[in-house]
Amino acid sequence: MIMSKILITDALHENAVDILKAAGDVEVATGLSVEELKEKIKDADVLVIRSGTKATKEIIDASENLKVIARAGVGVDNVDINAATEKGIIVLNAPDASSISVAELLFGMMLSAVRNIPQATASLKRGEWDRKSFKGLEVYGKTLGVVGLGRIGQQVAKRAQAFGMQVVAYDPYIPEDVANSLGIELLSVNDLCQTSDFITLHVPLTPKTKHMIAKEQLDLMKPNTIIMNCARGGLIDEEALYNALKVNQIRGAALDVFEQEPPKGNPLLELDNVIGTPHQGASTEEAQISAGTIVARQAIKILKG
Ligand code: NAD
Repeated sequence: MIMSKILITDALHENAVDILKAAGDVEVATGLSVEELKEKIKDADVLVIRSGTKATKEIIDASENLKVIARAGVGVDNVDINAATEKGIIVLNAPDASSISVAELLFGMMLSAVRNIPQATASLKRGEWDRKSFKGLEVYGKTLGVVGLGRIGQQVAKRAQAFGMQVVAYDPYIPEDVANSLGIELLSVNDLCQTSDFITLHVPLTPKTKHMIAKEQLDLMKPNTIIMNCARGGLIDEEALYNALKVNQIRGAALDVFEQEPPKGNPLLELDNVIGTPHQGASTEEAQISAGTIVARQAIKILKG
């Protein structure tokens, strides 16, 4: 029997690798150049990736047997879906796997930003005992504006309500009665920016959502607003954000994602009122087991027909 060739090009949880090994001839090769990937993908039946590998048209066109591209995670913006569809290649993802992990990171970010936890930790480790510089605010009773009330947005909203926050949202695709049943008022994006003390983005990056938070929206925000992005870089116009934060027009920003990743030389990282993490929303043991094993099982099903 000819074994299917399964090529894994990003770090995948070992449980998922074991599932795939039982079904085919698995090669794990991370950190490949475009040329190396084009060579390796030639005879692969399945390509398994996370966010690192860019499955561009050039890569997809170099494949001769590829049947499945499995993205062990949510966003498929690193896969050229049109190029895959043209060749009859099925693209899989695991949309639910990391919702809770991202929502929990968002809460870590929100509390870290509003209580200056990263800045206070750095000060303490420098040997200082500065109890005055890091005065924060409570989140209780404040308004959280959720942009994108999908899987992650709803998990965030539920947690915010448990903290005693009011939740408003902008999502043109969510019916009003659904939002109301969650205790959430739907607003326009500009009204949300004007009303919220904290703003969190949970929409995909599309031509419509690119720079949806720009100077116009930043200018509407209150001076104490903290904006948080654990979705995709590019949703916020970073230059406009830098200009607003530099003059303390808003209180701060908490960013897990950037227009360019890694954000080498990004001036936002020089500002004291910016905290950040290196795209870690889905980086938990639970989310990675879940994402890896879900797509591994689906890929095997497809291979078996
Ligand atoms: P989802 O599809 O369940 O929800 C997205 C929501 O955005 C939907 O309700 C949709 O109606 C809404 N939406 C779409 N276009 C919109 C627009 N123009 N304006 C307002 N709302 C719009 O997705 P999800 O699982 O909640 O994930 C949200 C995003 O989080 C993903 O697209 C992904 O980019 C990001 N994400 C990031 C990480 C990370 O590591 N930081 C991990 C997982 C997901």
